[in-house]
Amino acid sequence: MEYDVKGNLKDVLSTLPDGVRLVAVSKFHPAEYIEEAYREGQRIFGESHEQELSRKVKELPEDIQWHFIGHLQTNKVKYIAPYISMIEAVDSLKLLKEIQKQAEKSGRVIDVLLELHIAEEETKYGLTPDACRQLLDNGEWEQMKNVRICGLMMMASNVDDENQIRNEFTTAKLFFDEVKQKYFADAEYFCERSWGMSDDYPIAIECGSTMVRVGTRIFGPRVY
Ligand SMILES: *Cc1c(COP(=O)(O)O)cnc(C)c1O
Repeated sequence: MEYDVKGNLKDVLSTLPDGVRLVAVSKFHPAEYIEEAYREGQRIFGESHEQELSRKVKELPEDIQWHFIGHLQTNKVKYIAPYISMIEAVDSLKLLKEIQKQAEKSGRVIDVLLELHIAEEETKYGLTPDACRQLLDNGEWEQMKNVRICGLMMMASNVDDENQIRNEFTTAKLFFDEVKQKYFADAEYFCERSWGMSDDYPIAIECGSTMVRVGTRIFGPRVY
């Protein structure tokens, strides 16, 4: 093994306070790397491509909790609906509806996060705070018995400026508080704030993250 997955995983885990969970982002890394982390007790893994994920699911232990963290096309939902543990990057009502439909077919309730777009980069997916309010105000989601909205996910801008990153995470946290109070005050399950990646997760934790998605720092650089 090229990378000391075990050592890196331990290092990352040792810096996470109580209440912050690790999604080990294994996209583009081989199954052996996942097995190595699994042997250390890691159970939540993040993938962002349906075909790669489906392939890995077949090879790897059944009790892995797979999080879909990438942009998900509606026509791919049916493939992952039978087993996916969480779909982290829901960025449209259309996608939410398709998840409801496929979750119902599978006889499951699927946990999802709404993906917020706060970063300045236009390349990033996600709902602006206004679009997110609109989606929630529309109310259709309340009828979706097979979908459970558990919180928000976001990516900060890929910049060196720590202040900018901190501002973006803080904006996300404030928006989370607003949404929690307005739509999910009585829903205990609406509690997840998925922010923080290899380069910025310590800042994310300071800004209220409950779930960090860390890949490179554990598994090394991805080979695309
Ligand atoms: C790839 C990816 C990550 C992990 O990025 P690293 O910089 O390797 O930690 C986190 N979140 C999302 C949405 C990703 O696509």
